[in-house]
Amino acid sequence: MKKELLKVNDLKQHFPIKGGLLGRTVNHVKAVDGVSFTVYEGETVSIVGESGCGKSTTGRAVLRLDEPTSGEVYFDGENLLSLNKREMRAKRKDLQIIFQDPYASINPRQTVRQVLEEAIVIQNVIPPNEREEKIKELMEKVGLGAHQIDRFPHEFSGGQRQRIGIARALSVDPKLIICDEAVSALDVSIQAQVINLLKQLQREMKLTYLFISHDLGVVRHISDRVIVMYLGRIVEVADKNSLFENPKHPYTKALLSAIPVPDPKRKKERVILTGDVPSPIDPPAGCRFHTRCPFATDKCKEEEPELRTTDGMSEQHEAACHYIEELSS
Ligand code: SF4
Repeated sequence: MKKELLKVNDLKQHFPIKGGLLGRTVNHVKAVDGVSFTVYEGETVSIVGESGCGKSTTGRAVLRLDEPTSGEVYFDGENLLSLNKREMRAKRKDLQIIFQDPYASINPRQTVRQVLEEAIVIQNVIPPNEREEKIKELMEKVGLGAHQIDRFPHEFSGGQRQRIGIARALSVDPKLIICDEAVSALDVSIQAQVINLLKQLQREMKLTYLFISHDLGVVRHISDRVIVMYLGRIVEVADKNSLFENPKHPYTKALLSAIPVPDPKRKKERVILTGDVPSPIDPPAGCRFHTRCPFATDKCKEEEPELRTTDGMSEQHEAACHYIEELSS
């Protein structure tokens, strides 16, 4: 039986908006507004959606980089939101994050040796006399070579710097790594190399990934399961093949229709979404997607659809739409 490594229940992240002379809270940005999902040990679950859908905020809230407004985040059976600061710091050994821009999260005045050593010292996981060996081993593991440990970050290319970011995340032997747009800034060929490295490390080290990306091509390559978010809520979740071959939610269909097809003979019908994503300060009533959905009815404007499954959908495939059956036929 698959083990639940991460279980998120009704997670909310509402950021206050201050206003007036007294700087009182006048409203909230509901960046994440009640998301629930599970990540099983050893799998890669991706979160996709347009910019502003709440995917990166979800990742940060899971790690408590921003303190969530409410909800539960169970990691290995323990609710992270009930831990005090010291306990959470210790827990971060098991949960690491790789950011889009490793340069922004690496001190440019430190050599790679110092960057990796710092992560190891903070978590105090390896005795001092074994650290040098560990750092060299990490450099080999991410394909940079131990001979480069005394170089500075600016001496590496973008792809190599992302490998340093991966080595830093691996330095404390984590169980779960959140990859937040980790390959988005890289050229396509370098992207493929870094994704292959992540997959290889996953096999070797039994890692679990929560992969946050707006790039569906990359998501298709790396994921076991995919979560689609829109305006702070999950609108569809499925295993990769079901999501890409048999999407159910109109928003997912629109996202997928925008992926370029490499075969010029194969025509694909592009679904163009009209209008902008509404403001997360005051999301639309009913189905949040109704202001852009070509199939919206009066019911959609009033009743919020729950995630659900129906005949013809694979196990663990759910979509939040009132008209899954009608739109499938
Ligand atoms: Fe569109 Fe209505 Fe389905 Fe929402 S519930 S996705 S508005 S058809």
